[in-house]
Amino acid sequence: MRFFRVPKFLRWNYRNGIWQGRKSEVYLTFDDGPHPLVTPWVLDLLEKHRVHATFFCIGVNVDSNLELFQRISDAGHAVGNHTMFHERGWHTTTSHYIESVIQAKKHIHSSLFRPPYGSLTFRQFKKLKTLGFKVVFWSWISYDFDQNCPQEEILQQAKRIKGGDILVFHDSEKAKFNLEGVLEKIIVELKQKGLKFSTIA
Ligand SMILES: [Zn+2]
Repeated sequence: MRFFRVPKFLRWNYRNGIWQGRKSEVYLTFDDGPHPLVTPWVLDLLEKHRVHATFFCIGVNVDSNLELFQRISDAGHAVGNHTMFHERGWHTTTSHYIESVIQAKKHIHSSLFRPPYGSLTFRQFKKLKTLGFKVVFWSWISYDFDQNCPQEEILQQAKRIKGGDILVFHDSEKAKFNLEGVLEKIIVELKQKGLKFSTIA
């Protein structure tokens, strides 16, 4: 059973995080890049449709793909912090976790932060807020990373996307196949619904 939507009770503890945006807009977000085999394809597609997105980058990937990271910003997209090494909050001490976020911030100049796997303890959450980070979750996840998830299912679930939704995709190798199969169709469909694409601010 895949939950494309985050159940309300799971949001409760982190209700001061960002889960949704303005009702007239949708927000494409891409996690885990930049990746040389995937991110350029995503950027080309976004340019073709003249839409902007928010990229939550992993520090070590930025470090090894500096030009590509620059290309994301130059194209007018927003960037956010996704830790240095994609640590899982629940399996990491708070001090180590915060250290990783601060290290990634040296590469990624943004106050936006998204926890990998959505895994974050309440202590880590509070500490990040104290440090001035806006913690961004999502309201709809694409399962593009799940190679056992049929693209028909993703497209079917995408029909329920509505204004205000923050959508998660991944510019990662694992997600490449599904991404190439569904992303353009979803963008076209959302445009047909009259929704505007915006970046998270
Ligand atoms: Zn991630």
